[in-house]
Formats: sequence, structure tokens, C-alpha cells
Amino acid sequence: MTTDSPSAPISNFLRTIIDNDLRAGRTAGRLWAGRPGPAEVRRQGEADPARIRTRFPPEPNGYLHIGHAKSICLNFGLARDYQGACHLRFDDTNPEKEEDEYVQAIIEMVHWLGFDWTHHGQEHLYYASDYFEVMYRFAQALVASGHAYVDEQSADQMRATRGTLTEPGTHSPWRDRPAAESLALLDEMRRGVHPDGRMALRARIDMASPNINMRDPVLYRIRHVSHHRTGDAWCIYPMYTWAHPVEDALEGITHSICTLEFEDQRPFYDWILERLVELDQLAAPLPRQYEFARLNLSYVVTSKRKLRQLVEERHVAGWDDPRLPTLAGLRRRGYTPSSIRLFCERLGVSKADSRIDYATLEQALRDDLDPVAPRAVAVLDPLKLIITNFPEDQVEPCSAPINPHAPDGALRHFPFTRELWIERDDFREDPPRKYFRLFPGNLVRLKYAYIVRCTGCVKDAQGRIVEVHAEYLPETRSGTPGADSVKVKGTVTWVSADSAVPAEVRLYDRLFSEAHPDAGDKDFLAALNPDSCRVVQALLEPGTRAEPGTAWQFERLGYFVADREDSTAERPVINRAVTLRDTWV
Ligand code: ATP
Ligand code: MG
Repeated sequence: MTTDSPSAPISNFLRTIIDNDLRAGRTAGRLWAGRPGPAEVRRQGEADPARIRTRFPPEPNGYLHIGHAKSICLNFGLARDYQGACHLRFDDTNPEKEEDEYVQAIIEMVHWLGFDWTHHGQEHLYYASDYFEVMYRFAQALVASGHAYVDEQSADQMRATRGTLTEPGTHSPWRDRPAAESLALLDEMRRGVHPDGRMALRARIDMASPNINMRDPVLYRIRHVSHHRTGDAWCIYPMYTWAHPVEDALEGITHSICTLEFEDQRPFYDWILERLVELDQLAAPLPRQYEFARLNLSYVVTSKRKLRQLVEERHVAGWDDPRLPTLAGLRRRGYTPSSIRLFCERLGVSKADSRIDYATLEQALRDDLDPVAPRAVAVLDPLKLIITNFPEDQVEPCSAPINPHAPDGALRHFPFTRELWIERDDFREDPPRKYFRLFPGNLVRLKYAYIVRCTGCVKDAQGRIVEVHAEYLPETRSGTPGADSVKVKGTVTWVSADSAVPAEVRLYDRLFSEAHPDAGDKDFLAALNPDSCRVVQALLEPGTRAEPGTAWQFERLGYFVADREDSTAERPVINRAVTLRDTWV
């Protein structure tokens, strides 16, 4: 697990709970047999080497996004800080949309974020589908003890008889059938005798409970669908709310942390586990569920369904499109694992729902890259600048810090020549007020080189400016005693025209132009930002080598990264990760 946590962790309500649990000995006495298992396996174990166990339980039905990162950093971070283990568990109980492709992508991204599931030399990578057999056995035990029954009502009938917030539900006619009859039907369900929806296994709790989740929830439904791991071995699949507490308990999880919408499920979570302990199927102490507020980030959507729609309808180029809030997209955009961990740390953990501004994520990236990213000059909209009094074949070496914060003071080197490229926006024939860059008669500093006086410009037949002319003041070179002899208000970046490196630069912006694209019932596609990607042909400082994944701060512009898919040494392709300052305020 990552050990480079920058500072002592900030406390939060979950840490307080864990501290209290450890102090009160609530997690003591747990046995761990080296693998997950029911009571008889657990009893063969020894004292659990992990002080706490948490888990990150993604369903492998899509790519991880920034919301998942919050849960990953939280669960793996708690395990790290409390000398515990965090399990990566694939909650693959719903076969329709699950695929191995997602499993592999999730594993890759959790590793990329800097976490792993090895504790005391043991890997804790689990699949809920590996528990299908033991879950089935638990279901039989519940039926045999009168805690579950096979209901032959249709899904619609079950819904209609469930009652409302103010009305109790009504009993199914099958609720009091003999356990032996339910057991026989459950066996038939498993053997594939019955079609989808013909019957279901329900817990037998309380149809009058004020908590609707306690009104005989469904445990198993029939689904004649192949599963990406178990193939056709099963045609009944456990419901999430029943599978999840069982998975936690089998794995000896101590703190099962989930998002707030599961708060109303907690009584059922506890009910199921308590029954299974009574029936000697599970070993105490039992896991406890705690809820925290999910991450809601402005200017993005994170629902897997909506992300899939963006990809499938080709509003973006794929799951790793740099405009998506998927971890694969953020990585390609230029986000570093440490910037995402920093963002999650800054978010903290609470039980109050809130929306986090996208700018908070961007600031975490700037703060992460600023101390380390090498600097370079890039010209995104090039315009030729000719130093008319500088000899044509003269090359003057210049240098600048690779990173001004780096203690080693290392320098980069690049030539100053008669012909340079500057940003088109750095010259105005008719400057507005307070414009301090190049215009006829004005003096500016060419960064790391000389002060120049602008003498005019050349236009083509259409009246478009094609060249700017200037004369340099030889005694004003940066770093020489004469550098300050002339005062100027403007500084302009440049690259030498002879040796500039051409590159395609993709100027990414927010995918949505509204802060809450999917608030209420809004059509989120209507809020797509039509200018979320602008491609320009840029010129980079000589010597800039665009290995895929390399990141820079391009001076005055922002943080950029060489695209990990499309960039090559011959043809650099560079993504803008974030501008230098928040331009959206
Ligand atoms: P979606 O609702 O988009 O389909 P999900 O919550 O169903 O996402 P899972 O794969 O079930 O996705 O999520 C795995 C874990 O990640 C869960 O424990 C869930 O609580 C957590 N998680 C998902 N989204 C967020 C979020 N926005 N903020 C914090 N945690 C999240
Ligand atoms: Mg889910």
C-alpha cells in the first residue's frame, strides 16, 4: 500500500468510530483462516493479523470514475493507517452487464491509484461469485428455520402488496407454506426447472415494518443468463442487498463503508447476519455498515449509465476520453495518482451530501504538478517574430530553470535566433488599454533573452498579420548586468523558429457547460459543451521530448501531458490537462 501519505491523516467520523472500536475491543477476537469462509472455516483460523478489514466492492459493469476514487482512497487509506487489510472484491452478482474487461480495467486503475490488496504477504482479491455455493447453503438454512420462503407471486404482485410509507404491506399467500415445500422449490429454482420471474426466494421478516426494506425482501431471483465467471452453473442470482452483508461477513470485514443511499438497508444488513450467526453459519463478531456522502462533482456526470451513453453514442471517443471523469480518462488527461489522492484527502469524509466544484479537482492537479513538472515554452497559435537587427546565422544559447522550485537549480537550454515564434495574441496593431505586450513602438522582454522594441508588422493580401518585426537591445540580455537598464511592463514567451518542435495540442475543456448537467430530470446531453476539445498545431521549445505520459508546465498556459495513446516521438500529441489559473470563475 502507498506509504507516501503526505501528512498525518485528518480525523473524520469514520476514524473516530474505528478508534472507539479498537479501544473497546470490538474488533478483537476475530479469527482469520487465510481465506474467506463461513463459521466452520473461520474457526480453523488464527488471530486475524489485520487490525481492521475494509473492502472496495465495485460491480464489474463499467469503468471506475472519480466517485469511486473517493471510496478507494477512503477504504484503502483506512486499512493502511490502521495496519489493516482492504479487500478488492468484485461484486459480480448481477450477470447481465458484467464483463471480464471491466474486471481487468478496475484492477489496473486501483493499482494506478497507488493501492494494493496485499497484506502480510496475502492477496485479498475476491469475487462475490466465488461465494455462490455458500450463499445458497445459507439460503437453505434460512428457509429451514422459517426465515425465508419461496414466493410464487409475480414481481408486479410483490410490488403491489408491499404497501407504502403509510400503509403496511399484505402477506403473500405463500408466506406460511411449509419449509420443506420452499426447500424443494428452491432446489427446483436452482436446477433451472422454472423460467425467469416464475418465483423468488424472500426473507420472512415483517410486512408491516415502517422500513419498507424489511418487508420480506427478495433474496434470490431466477435469471437464465450466463455469468462471466460461473458460466451456466447458476440460473438463480442473489440480490445485492442479501449478497453484500454475506460477502462482508465471509471475508471478516470489520467496517463496511458505503454511500448514504444504503442507510435504509442497514437494518436488513444486520438482520441477515444475526440470523446466520444464530444458525451457526457465520462467525461473530459481525461486520458493521457505515455510510458516508458520495462525491458529487460539478460539470461532470458519474452515473455509469450516463457515462456508457456518452461513450456508446460517441459524444466522446471512448471510456478513456480525456474529458470523462473516469479514472482512465483522468489519467489520459494528465491527472496523476497523487493529485487524485490529494483531491480525495481535501474532500474529507462526511455524512452530509454536497456538491464539489470541479475547480477543486483542477487545483489538486496544479498543486501536485507545480513542484515537480518541468517547464517548457509552447506556442499554441504561432506568429512569426523577426528580430531585424539580429544576424541571420547567429545562434545565441539561452537557458532557464527546468523547475524554479527544484533545489538543484538544473537548467534547460534553447537557442535565440533571428526568427522566432510568438503567440498571435501577443501582438496587437491597435492595442487596447493596459495591453503591455507587443505593439508598434512598445518595448517588451522576450523571456530569458533580450528586450525588444516592436517596429511593425507585415500582412498578407487578405490583411492577415503574417510577421511582426522588432529590434533587440543587445545590452539587455537576461542574467547580465544590463538586464534591468531598461524597464518594461510586458514579457513574451517565444521559441526559435529554426528548431521548434511541431506538435498537435488538444485543448480540452469541460465536457458540460452547466454545473449540474443531470440535475433533476434534465437531458444531460443538452448541456454538452460544443468546444470541449479544440485541436491546434503548436510549436514547442526545442528539445522538448514528448514520451507518452510526460507532463510539463507550458509557461503561461498550464499543465500538459503527452497523450498516452496517440503521441509518438515523430508526431507528438499533447493534451492540456488544466490551465494555470481557474478561468471559469
Ligand atoms: P453507479 O451508480 O454509477 O452505477 P455504483 O455505485 O453502482 O455506481 P459500484 O461499482 O457499485 O458503482 O461502486 C463501488 C463502490 O464505489 C461502492 O462501494 C460505492 O459506494 C462507491 N462509489 C460509487 N460511486 C461513488 C461516489 N460518487 N462517491 C463515493 N463513492 C462511490
Ligand atoms: Mg452499485
